[in-house]
Amino acid sequence: MTVFGLTLAGLLQVASVHLQPGVARPGDAVLVTVLGVTKAPSGTLGPQTLDFLPIADGFQALVALSVEASIGPRELSVDLIPEGGAETTITGTLDLEAPGWPKRELKVAKKFTSPSKAEQLRSARDQKAFEDAFDVDLEPWLFGSDFTWPRPPEITAPFGDLRLMNGKKKSQHFGMDLDGNTGDPITAANAGEVVMVRDCFGSGNTVLVHHGGRLFTAYFHLSKFEVKEGDLVKAGQRLGKVGKTGRVTGPHLHFGVKLDGRWVDPQSLLELKFFERGGALPAPKTPELGG
Ligand SMILES: [Zn+2]
Repeated sequence: MTVFGLTLAGLLQVASVHLQPGVARPGDAVLVTVLGVTKAPSGTLGPQTLDFLPIADGFQALVALSVEASIGPRELSVDLIPEGGAETTITGTLDLEAPGWPKRELKVAKKFTSPSKAEQLRSARDQKAFEDAFDVDLEPWLFGSDFTWPRPPEITAPFGDLRLMNGKKKSQHFGMDLDGNTGDPITAANAGEVVMVRDCFGSGNTVLVHHGGRLFTAYFHLSKFEVKEGDLVKAGQRLGKVGKTGRVTGPHLHFGVKLDGRWVDPQSLLELKFFERGGALPAPKTPELGG
Protein backbone atom coordinates (compact mmCIF):
# COMPACT_ATOMS: atom_id res chain seq x y z
CA MET A 1 0.00 0.00 0.00
CA THR A 2 1.25 3.47 -0.86
CA VAL A 3 0.01 6.45 1.13
CA PHE A 4 -0.02 9.99 -0.21
CA GLY A 5 -0.74 12.41 2.59
CA LEU A 6 -1.64 16.02 3.06
CA THR A 7 -0.25 17.64 6.19
CA LEU A 8 -0.91 21.23 7.16
CA ALA A 9 1.73 23.28 9.01
CA GLY A 10 3.95 20.19 9.00
CA LEU A 11 2.12 18.77 11.99
CA LEU A 12 -1.42 17.67 11.58
CA GLN A 13 -2.32 15.02 9.08
CA VAL A 14 -5.62 16.22 7.64
CA ALA A 15 -6.25 13.92 4.72
CA SER A 16 -4.65 10.92 3.06
CA VAL A 17 -4.97 8.93 -0.14
CA HIS A 18 -4.14 5.22 0.09
CA LEU A 19 -3.32 3.34 -3.09
CA GLN A 20 -3.28 -0.46 -3.51
CA PRO A 21 -1.42 -2.37 -4.81
CA GLY A 22 2.02 -0.69 -4.67
CA VAL A 23 2.81 -1.90 -8.20
CA ALA A 24 0.05 -3.08 -10.55
CA ARG A 25 -0.26 -5.07 -13.75
CA PRO A 26 -2.70 -4.70 -16.64
CA GLY A 27 -5.95 -6.45 -15.70
CA ASP A 28 -5.62 -5.63 -12.00
CA ALA A 29 -8.17 -4.05 -9.68
CA VAL A 30 -6.75 -0.94 -8.00
CA LEU A 31 -8.19 0.46 -4.77
CA VAL A 32 -8.03 4.14 -3.86
CA THR A 33 -9.04 5.01 -0.27
CA VAL A 34 -9.44 8.63 0.84
CA LEU A 35 -9.53 9.42 4.55
CA GLY A 36 -9.95 12.68 6.45
CA VAL A 37 -12.64 14.15 4.21
CA THR A 38 -16.37 14.55 4.73
CA LYS A 39 -17.41 15.34 1.14
CA ALA A 40 -16.95 12.89 -1.73
CA PRO A 41 -13.64 13.50 -3.53
CA SER A 42 -13.19 13.24 -7.30
CA GLY A 43 -10.21 12.13 -9.27
CA THR A 44 -8.51 10.19 -12.03
CA LEU A 45 -6.04 7.36 -12.43
CA GLY A 46 -4.43 7.91 -15.81
CA PRO A 47 -7.29 8.19 -18.29
CA GLN A 48 -9.83 6.63 -15.92
CA THR A 49 -12.29 8.51 -13.70
CA LEU A 50 -12.57 7.45 -10.05
CA ASP A 51 -16.12 6.73 -8.85
CA PHE A 52 -15.92 7.19 -5.09
CA LEU A 53 -18.27 5.29 -2.79
CA PRO A 54 -18.91 6.35 0.81
CA ILE A 55 -17.42 4.04 3.48
CA ALA A 56 -17.50 4.29 7.30
CA ASP A 57 -14.38 6.45 7.59
CA GLY A 58 -14.05 8.09 4.15
CA PHE A 59 -14.44 7.15 0.49
CA GLN A 60 -13.20 4.37 -1.77
CA ALA A 61 -12.93 3.92 -5.53
CA LEU A 62 -12.08 0.63 -7.22
CA VAL A 63 -10.59 0.89 -10.71
CA ALA A 64 -10.34 -1.87 -13.32
CA LEU A 65 -7.11 -1.59 -15.32
CA SER A 66 -7.57 -2.76 -18.89
CA VAL A 67 -5.64 -5.87 -19.96
CA GLU A 68 -4.45 -3.67 -22.86
CA ALA A 69 -3.13 -0.97 -20.48
CA SER A 70 0.36 0.29 -21.34
CA ILE A 71 3.29 -0.43 -19.03
CA GLY A 72 4.89 2.38 -17.02
CA PRO A 73 3.86 5.10 -14.56
CA ARG A 74 0.27 6.22 -14.31
CA GLU A 75 -0.72 9.41 -12.55
CA LEU A 76 -3.19 9.42 -9.68
CA SER A 77 -4.88 12.73 -8.99
CA VAL A 78 -7.51 13.24 -6.27
CA ASP A 79 -9.36 16.52 -5.65
CA LEU A 80 -10.61 16.70 -2.08
CA ILE A 81 -11.60 19.02 0.72
CA PRO A 82 -9.84 18.04 3.97
CA GLU A 83 -11.81 18.37 7.19
CA GLY A 84 -11.59 22.03 8.17
CA GLY A 85 -9.48 22.92 5.12
CA ALA A 86 -9.74 24.26 1.60
CA GLU A 87 -10.06 22.26 -1.61
CA THR A 88 -6.78 20.76 -2.76
CA THR A 89 -5.30 18.10 -5.02
CA ILE A 90 -3.23 15.13 -3.90
CA THR A 91 -1.21 13.42 -6.60
CA GLY A 92 0.73 10.19 -6.74
CA THR A 93 1.98 7.58 -9.16
CA LEU A 94 1.06 3.97 -9.79
CA ASP A 95 3.61 1.87 -11.68
CA LEU A 96 2.32 -0.71 -14.14
CA GLU A 97 4.65 -3.64 -14.82
CA ALA A 98 4.54 -6.18 -17.65
CA PRO A 99 2.10 -9.01 -16.91
CA GLY A 100 4.09 -11.87 -18.52
CA TRP A 101 1.03 -13.96 -19.24
CA PRO A 102 1.65 -17.64 -20.02
CA LYS A 103 0.64 -19.12 -23.38
CA ARG A 104 -0.89 -22.50 -23.91
CA GLU A 105 -2.38 -24.58 -26.68
CA LEU A 106 -6.14 -24.91 -26.37
CA LYS A 107 -7.95 -28.20 -26.59
CA VAL A 108 -11.73 -28.02 -26.80
CA ALA A 109 -14.46 -30.19 -28.24
CA LYS A 110 -15.45 -29.50 -31.85
CA LYS A 111 -18.93 -28.34 -30.84
CA PHE A 112 -17.30 -25.32 -29.15
CA THR A 113 -15.00 -24.37 -32.02
CA SER A 114 -17.74 -24.61 -34.65
CA PRO A 115 -21.03 -24.17 -32.78
CA SER A 116 -24.29 -24.82 -34.60
CA LYS A 117 -26.87 -22.10 -35.38
CA ALA A 118 -28.91 -23.13 -32.33
CA GLU A 119 -25.83 -23.05 -30.12
CA GLN A 120 -24.88 -19.59 -31.44
CA LEU A 121 -28.39 -18.34 -30.63
CA ARG A 122 -28.16 -19.82 -27.15
CA SER A 123 -24.79 -18.15 -26.65
CA ALA A 124 -26.24 -14.80 -27.71
CA ARG A 125 -29.11 -15.18 -25.19
CA ASP A 126 -26.55 -15.98 -22.46
CA GLN A 127 -24.60 -12.88 -23.44
CA LYS A 128 -27.73 -10.76 -23.06
CA ALA A 129 -28.44 -12.31 -19.63
CA PHE A 130 -24.91 -11.40 -18.48
CA GLU A 131 -25.32 -7.84 -19.75
CA ASP A 132 -28.66 -7.49 -17.92
CA ALA A 133 -27.14 -8.84 -14.69
CA PHE A 134 -24.20 -6.43 -14.92
CA ASP A 135 -26.51 -3.45 -15.54
CA VAL A 136 -26.85 -2.14 -11.97
CA ASP A 137 -26.64 1.27 -10.31
CA LEU A 138 -23.49 2.33 -8.52
CA GLU A 139 -24.26 1.62 -4.86
CA PRO A 140 -22.07 1.32 -1.74
CA TRP A 141 -20.25 -1.90 -0.87
CA LEU A 142 -22.50 -4.72 0.34
CA PHE A 143 -19.59 -6.33 2.24
CA GLY A 144 -17.80 -5.62 5.51
CA SER A 145 -14.66 -7.74 5.18
CA ASP A 146 -11.95 -8.43 2.60
CA PHE A 147 -12.49 -10.95 -0.23
CA THR A 148 -11.62 -14.61 0.32
CA TRP A 149 -10.98 -17.58 -1.99
CA PRO A 150 -14.14 -19.43 -3.06
CA ARG A 151 -12.11 -22.67 -3.05
CA PRO A 152 -8.72 -23.62 -1.57
CA PRO A 153 -6.06 -21.53 -3.40
CA GLU A 154 -4.92 -24.16 -5.88
CA ILE A 155 -4.74 -22.39 -9.25
CA THR A 156 -4.79 -24.64 -12.31
CA ALA A 157 -4.96 -21.77 -14.84
CA PRO A 158 -4.25 -18.15 -13.92
CA PHE A 159 -5.92 -15.00 -15.19
CA GLY A 160 -4.50 -13.71 -18.48
CA ASP A 161 -3.47 -17.10 -19.92
CA LEU A 162 -3.27 -16.66 -23.68
CA ARG A 163 -5.01 -19.57 -25.39
CA LEU A 164 -3.58 -20.56 -28.74
CA MET A 165 -5.15 -22.70 -31.38
CA ASN A 166 -2.65 -24.13 -33.86
CA GLY A 167 -0.16 -21.57 -32.57
CA LYS A 168 -2.46 -18.57 -33.12
CA LYS A 169 -3.95 -16.39 -30.35
CA LYS A 170 -7.53 -17.50 -30.00
CA SER A 171 -8.62 -16.05 -26.69
CA GLN A 172 -7.47 -14.88 -23.32
CA HIS A 173 -8.46 -16.39 -19.97
CA PHE A 174 -10.46 -13.74 -18.11
CA GLY A 175 -10.72 -15.62 -14.82
CA MET A 176 -8.84 -17.99 -12.59
CA ASP A 177 -9.34 -21.76 -12.59
CA LEU A 178 -9.34 -23.39 -9.17
CA ASP A 179 -8.89 -27.09 -8.60
CA GLY A 180 -11.78 -29.24 -7.46
CA ASN A 181 -13.68 -32.47 -8.00
CA THR A 182 -17.32 -32.66 -8.96
CA GLY A 183 -19.37 -32.07 -5.81
CA ASP A 184 -16.75 -30.06 -3.90
CA PRO A 185 -18.15 -26.91 -2.23
CA ILE A 186 -17.94 -23.41 -3.70
CA THR A 187 -18.36 -20.46 -1.34
CA ALA A 188 -19.11 -16.76 -1.90
CA ALA A 189 -15.90 -14.70 -2.04
CA ASN A 190 -17.75 -12.01 -0.11
CA ALA A 191 -21.20 -10.79 0.91
CA GLY A 192 -23.50 -9.61 -1.85
CA GLU A 193 -26.64 -10.21 -3.87
CA VAL A 194 -27.04 -13.15 -6.26
CA VAL A 195 -27.96 -11.49 -9.58
CA MET A 196 -27.77 -14.49 -11.92
CA VAL A 197 -28.26 -18.25 -11.62
CA ARG A 198 -28.27 -19.72 -15.13
CA ASP A 199 -27.37 -22.70 -17.28
CA CYS A 200 -25.16 -21.18 -20.00
CA PHE A 201 -23.65 -22.74 -23.16
CA GLY A 202 -20.03 -21.69 -22.52
CA SER A 203 -19.82 -21.09 -18.76
CA GLY A 204 -22.18 -23.93 -17.88
CA ASN A 205 -24.10 -23.55 -14.62
CA THR A 206 -23.26 -20.00 -13.62
CA VAL A 207 -23.70 -17.88 -10.49
CA LEU A 208 -23.06 -14.12 -10.42
CA VAL A 209 -22.88 -12.17 -7.16
CA HIS A 210 -22.98 -8.35 -7.02
CA HIS A 211 -20.99 -6.84 -4.15
CA GLY A 212 -21.97 -3.17 -4.66
CA GLY A 213 -19.98 -0.60 -6.66
CA ARG A 214 -20.55 -2.54 -9.94
CA LEU A 215 -18.20 -5.23 -8.63
CA PHE A 216 -19.23 -8.83 -9.33
CA THR A 217 -17.79 -12.28 -8.69
CA ALA A 218 -18.60 -15.08 -11.16
CA TYR A 219 -18.61 -18.84 -10.58
CA PHE A 220 -18.70 -21.10 -13.69
CA HIS A 221 -19.21 -24.80 -14.55
CA LEU A 222 -21.14 -25.78 -11.38
CA SER A 223 -22.72 -29.22 -11.03
CA LYS A 224 -25.30 -27.95 -8.54
CA PHE A 225 -26.76 -24.59 -7.46
CA GLU A 226 -27.37 -23.85 -3.78
CA VAL A 227 -28.66 -20.27 -4.18
CA LYS A 228 -31.27 -18.53 -6.31
CA GLU A 229 -31.48 -15.11 -7.94
CA GLY A 230 -32.24 -12.36 -5.43
CA ASP A 231 -30.62 -14.17 -2.49
CA LEU A 232 -28.45 -12.04 -0.22
CA VAL A 233 -25.40 -14.13 0.63
CA LYS A 234 -22.87 -13.77 3.41
CA ALA A 235 -19.10 -14.04 2.90
CA GLY A 236 -18.20 -17.73 2.78
CA GLN A 237 -21.78 -18.91 2.24
CA ARG A 238 -22.23 -21.99 0.01
CA LEU A 239 -23.21 -21.11 -3.57
CA GLY A 240 -23.08 -24.55 -5.15
CA LYS A 241 -20.84 -27.44 -6.10
CA VAL A 242 -17.89 -27.84 -8.47
CA GLY A 243 -18.75 -29.42 -11.82
CA LYS A 244 -17.78 -29.59 -15.49
CA THR A 245 -20.81 -28.04 -17.18
CA GLY A 246 -20.28 -25.86 -20.27
CA ARG A 247 -17.09 -25.39 -22.27
CA VAL A 248 -14.63 -27.44 -20.20
CA THR A 249 -12.63 -30.64 -20.35
CA GLY A 250 -12.78 -31.51 -16.64
CA PRO A 251 -14.24 -30.42 -13.31
CA HIS A 252 -12.92 -27.16 -11.79
CA LEU A 253 -14.18 -23.78 -10.67
CA HIS A 254 -13.66 -20.86 -13.05
CA PHE A 255 -13.67 -17.83 -10.74
CA GLY A 256 -14.14 -14.46 -12.43
CA VAL A 257 -14.27 -10.86 -11.22
CA LYS A 258 -16.11 -8.21 -13.22
CA LEU A 259 -15.55 -4.59 -12.27
CA ASP A 260 -17.26 -1.71 -14.02
CA GLY A 261 -17.62 -3.68 -17.24
CA ARG A 262 -14.15 -5.30 -17.26
CA TRP A 263 -12.94 -8.74 -16.21
CA VAL A 264 -10.03 -8.25 -13.82
CA ASP A 265 -7.54 -10.63 -12.20
CA PRO A 266 -9.36 -12.22 -9.21
CA GLN A 267 -6.06 -12.50 -7.36
CA SER A 268 -5.64 -8.71 -7.44
CA LEU A 269 -9.05 -8.35 -5.73
CA LEU A 270 -8.21 -11.05 -3.16
CA GLU A 271 -5.05 -9.15 -2.17
CA LEU A 272 -6.78 -5.79 -1.53
CA LYS A 273 -7.19 -4.67 2.09
CA PHE A 274 -10.46 -2.74 2.07
CA PHE A 275 -10.56 -2.28 5.85
CA GLU A 276 -6.89 -1.92 6.81
CA ARG A 277 -5.53 1.58 7.30
CA GLY A 278 -1.84 0.73 7.35
CA GLY A 279 1.08 2.46 5.74
CA ALA A 280 3.17 5.23 7.23
CA LEU A 281 2.68 8.70 5.87
CA PRO A 282 5.70 10.19 4.12
CA ALA A 283 6.85 13.44 5.70
CA PRO A 284 5.57 16.10 3.32
CA LYS A 285 7.41 19.33 2.67
CA THR A 286 4.65 21.04 0.80
CA PRO A 287 0.88 20.75 1.12
CA GLU A 288 0.80 18.91 -2.21
CA LEU A 289 2.78 15.72 -2.29
CA GLY A 290 3.59 13.50 -5.23
CA GLY A 291 4.55 9.86 -5.02
ZN1 LIG B 1 -11.39 -20.75 -16.61
